Amino acid sequence: MSLNERDKKHLWHPLTQHKLHPDAIAITKANGCILTDENGNEYIDAIASWYTCMYGHCNPYITNKVMGQMQQLDQVVFSGFTHEPAIKLSEELIKILPDNQNKIFFSDNGSTAVEIGIKMALQYHFNSDDKKDTLIAFEDGFHGDTFGAMSVSGLSVYNGPFEDFFLTVKRIPVPNGKNHDVILKNLQSLASKNKVAGFVYEPLVQGAAAMKMHDVEGLNMILKFCKDQNIITVADEVMTGFGKTGKHFASLHLESQPDIICLSKALTGGLLPMALTTCSQKIYAAFYSDDIGKGLFHGHTYSANPLACTAALASIELLQSENIQRNITRIIKSHEAFNKRIKIHPKVKETRQTGVIFALDLNVEMERYGNLRDQLFKFFMENGVFLRPLGNTIYIQAPYLITEEQLEKVYRVIEESLSIV
Ligand SMILES: *Cc1c(COP(=O)(O)O)cnc(C)c1O
Repeated sequence: MSLNERDKKHLWHPLTQHKLHPDAIAITKANGCILTDENGNEYIDAIASWYTCMYGHCNPYITNKVMGQMQQLDQVVFSGFTHEPAIKLSEELIKILPDNQNKIFFSDNGSTAVEIGIKMALQYHFNSDDKKDTLIAFEDGFHGDTFGAMSVSGLSVYNGPFEDFFLTVKRIPVPNGKNHDVILKNLQSLASKNKVAGFVYEPLVQGAAAMKMHDVEGLNMILKFCKDQNIITVADEVMTGFGKTGKHFASLHLESQPDIICLSKALTGGLLPMALTTCSQKIYAAFYSDDIGKGLFHGHTYSANPLACTAALASIELLQSENIQRNITRIIKSHEAFNKRIKIHPKVKETRQTGVIFALDLNVEMERYGNLRDQLFKFFMENGVFLRPLGNTIYIQAPYLITEEQLEKVYRVIEESLSIV
């Protein structure tokens, strides 16, 4: 029996309506930018397996470091204990994070990183004897699938069944360069009528909202407003972190630095699950007390797993290497050249790019997981490229080590796909 057939017996996949989508493609091998399935077909991983494997799959530099660590220290409780991989990672990260970040808290996925960011923001005010109960977030944001993260995400069929159990969240429009006044009025009214604890946002690019991109000035204005009102800013850089926007973090493109930053996805180069919530000294200071109850009583069993820390350290080293930085610049230029030829195609409504993230919207109406979208996905896979359209948006976020030849193939297959829609 094939893996695909055996899969159907006991497995329940994420984000899947199994009655409509019974088949999963069984992948048996991954190397560099190439995924190989059980029938030997090869695919260019043009979305770096959900933006994680940015240094290529099974990167030997990362895997060798982790193999060494495996023989030294595998796992230990991180409450009351510490270890060098976590310490070293904190030292290296602080060097590249926005200047105001000073403390690092571990967890194991993007949703919990956001959950912790929200708890830090709420408890910051609670500990300061100024309890606040409302959060602000963008319309169409996506922050994960746990309850706090779902609450601050935009409403959709995915979190709809749980809406009655959400935190109190007020949503504001995404800054598009034309709505600054509307947003500012909105914020002023929200801040005067509610006790706003924090603002949770994906800086510059909203991944799950089909790579929606922000007007930088508009976001600067919102962040300034929050700072002035002591609204804690929580930057969800789970997707944008580690080079995607051309800088190490999207927040580095902005004027005001966030109080809290959430990181995961490319943190470990895709090798192991891990996440971080980092914060400024101002946030940490509100928890530092003789009163035990003012501590942050949140912890996960695998917090700061030494193997994941080692993978993250190796990834951060690679990120800062001349080779990866050169590749990032190259990909940005290639996307710009591709944009020139694709944006004039009659089937293309709009294109956009931030760093190595490139997206195009088709002129064709499509449901997010509808039939036409499925045909498009099938076309890409049959032509050896793993792209995962979100409704009528096709986007590329390939590993930094993708070759020019592989990238050209991705572009070509996208161009060819326009004739089937
Ligand atoms: C993927 C993602 C999350 C959720 O991370 P998980 O590891 O899937 O829980 C949160 N925020 C953003 C911006 C993401 O892209």
